[in-house]
Amino acid sequence: MKTIGVLTSGGDAPGMNAAVRAVVRTGLENDMRVVGIYNGYEGLMSGDVAEMNLRSVSNIVQRGGTVLRTARSMEFMTDRGQEKAADMCHRLGIEGVVVIGGDGSFRGAQALSRKGINCVGIPGTIDNDISCTDLTIGFDTAVNTVMQMVDMVRDTTESHSRCSVIEVMGRKAGYIALYSGIAVGATSILIPEFEYDFDIDVVERMKKTISTGKQHFIIIFAEGCGDATEMARQIERETGVESRATILGHVQRGGSPTVNDRVLASRMGNYATRLLRDDCSSRVVAIKNDTIVDYDIEEALQMEKEIDIDIYRMAHEISI
Ligand code: ATP
Repeated sequence: MKTIGVLTSGGDAPGMNAAVRAVVRTGLENDMRVVGIYNGYEGLMSGDVAEMNLRSVSNIVQRGGTVLRTARSMEFMTDRGQEKAADMCHRLGIEGVVVIGGDGSFRGAQALSRKGINCVGIPGTIDNDISCTDLTIGFDTAVNTVMQMVDMVRDTTESHSRCSVIEVMGRKAGYIALYSGIAVGATSILIPEFEYDFDIDVVERMKKTISTGKQHFIIIFAEGCGDATEMARQIERETGVESRATILGHVQRGGSPTVNDRVLASRMGNYATRLLRDDCSSRVVAIKNDTIVDYDIEEALQMEKEIDIDIYRMAHEISI
């Protein structure tokens, strides 16, 4: 009987549990043994694992975070660490591992594949910044959380005729900012992919809307664009509108996954496990035009994904 393991690695994302559940159930239904590996590659090196049965993953499809917990491991970045993990796999009889995480976790999966352990990656990260896939597990939940939070901030922003600069996650990727910005009707959306001009893209936009009677403003600001508090100060100085920064922070990672994330995670978990059943290795699962596909990890890591400038332009055209 084939034995496979499943781990979550890097930052946690809502929907990871639904993916773990799908891996466990698909594995067992296909006559494989499945072990859960705790704390990502750390747990793989130390053998921190638990045998999974059908009931081990009951009642987790709706939970945020990851029941397997997650970690970042410096030791696993080294050849010795990877040897240690491969040795542990041999000792525990683990022939294949499903790795749920981001690009870094996929590099780890590629390294482990080279040590003879079949690995398949599943994209789990709220940032949606994995090039090979249209969507990552956790993104939909994160943007819905941001939308709900901004809707709440808006009540006070409106009551006081203020401007709220909302900082959302995304150091290098503006997907959370762009999609939540559209959903809340932000006056300006600032993302790291496109350089912005403070006078044109913020001040002039605000002044234009003030001239048409608008009295409160939401600016969505991806964290990679700088300092939201400083931006609020500058806005107040230039427009005279009282401005406050709200930094949403880790709340964006939490919460019960949306329908879209649960379904995506279930499909990807099922597909990844079938790849391991069929002895595939060094693959990453992705969704393209609503179809689940897989790529070689090397190829996937070299792909580039560009945020859609038409969506960015559309967002600004309709938010004045
Ligand atoms: P997130 O998008 O949430 O940051 P990630 O998977 O990209 O997720 P990383 O911290 O980059 O997060 O990677 C997770 C773990 O994967 C690292 O702690 C490390 O153990 C392993 N890893 C990352 N890069 C490599 C690499 N080049 N070789 C081997 N292992 C790696």
